Amino acid sequence: MHVHTLIVGAGPGGLACARMLAEHGLTPLVIERKESIGAKVCAGGITWGGLISRVPADPVQHIITPLQRVRIEEPAPIIATVNRVKLGRYMAQQAIAAGSEIMTGWQVKRIHGQELVMEHKDKRQQQSITFDYLVGADGSSSLVRRHLGLATTRVGIGINYQISGDLADMEWHLNNRYFGNGYGWIFPHGNSVSIGAYAAKATMPASLLKKGLLTWAERSGFPLTQEQARAEYINFDYQGWKFGRTFLVGDAAGLASGLTGEGIYPAILSGEEVARTIIDPDFRSVVMEKLIHKHRLHSRMVRFTGLNSVFNCLAGEGVALGLRCGVIKFNKLEMAVEA
Ligand SMILES: Cc1cc2nc3c(=O)[nH]c(=O)nc-3n(C[C@H](O)[C@H](O)[C@H](O)COP(=O)(O)OP(=O)(O)OC[C@H]3O[C@@H](n4cnc5c(N)ncnc54)[C@H](O)[C@@H]3O)c2cc1C
Repeated sequence: MHVHTLIVGAGPGGLACARMLAEHGLTPLVIERKESIGAKVCAGGITWGGLISRVPADPVQHIITPLQRVRIEEPAPIIATVNRVKLGRYMAQQAIAAGSEIMTGWQVKRIHGQELVMEHKDKRQQQSITFDYLVGADGSSSLVRRHLGLATTRVGIGINYQISGDLADMEWHLNNRYFGNGYGWIFPHGNSVSIGAYAAKATMPASLLKKGLLTWAERSGFPLTQEQARAEYINFDYQGWKFGRTFLVGDAAGLASGLTGEGIYPAILSGEEVARTIIDPDFRSVVMEKLIHKHRLHSRMVRFTGLNSVFNCLAGEGVALGLRCGVIKFNKLEMAVEA
């Protein structure tokens, strides 16, 4: 089989890329190793203007540091939570309706030049496909990225507990004692709650982060020891997105924020921008330039706040104080890049 554009991975990045290519008359093929689309270890926090207006959101957020508690209310929702299964299904439907093909239950195993080999989940079938363009949208442990010879050293760790419960407000906790220069979160999801923590691996080993999360959650009234933790790396080791006719998007490109671990929005934006570049090779992506600029800024902030705990505490308290006084606007802290 030969295809014009082959996309590895049906996460938000791969599906956004597929939809846009198909809307321009191309018929991309998306290969996804999981049998169903969407499920992913994730807190589901979204700050993406276009999507946020279409999902139910509660506009109240709290940022809590050891010394301060800031309640933020905005007239329009600027952050909400999204169910990853529903988001995946929605994006897949859009991509298919536009003309993309998606094959689930197939894992890409090897890439040689303009050809790849994939294996079905039942391990009995293998198939090879040739392509003109290849898009690696295969997440933080991307095979396409490894095929390009790119190492991945700068990663964050996200630990998530999805428990039953019905809460209204979103909370961020900046507390060096439990999370180093990362943070803890409590995100409501209708009839369940995501409780978790994120930190850059270089500043906080996974075992310490989990210990801090469990202690903090217990003290906050959420005993988690009997609950199931799910953890994954989040790649923020950005080293480029265009490599001839091979492209990387989202976590495969290392475009998640090192500071916050937020990666859905960068994945969707980069997926769309890769599609635009495939459609028109002379296309200059201002969106990618802005995204990369913001990504570098966040990476510098990770380095700065990771230097020592005093810098980190001061930075956290400074942000909270700025928000309380109105000097800092909450929506300026986000990963927002206008498309
Ligand atoms: C605990 C935790 C909490 C998080 N919370 C948030 C949050 O609140 N907000 C936010 O914006 N981000 C959050 N993130 C990050 C976010 O989940 C990712 O940045 C985002 O999913 C990246 O999208 P993607 O499309 O690049 O990759 P992914 O969503 O990882 O999709 C990659 C897809 O590729 C498939 N795949 C991989 N290898 C192969 C292969 N060889 N063959 C075929 N298919 C393959 C995978 O099955 C997967 O479906 C969190 C992450 C973690 C771990």
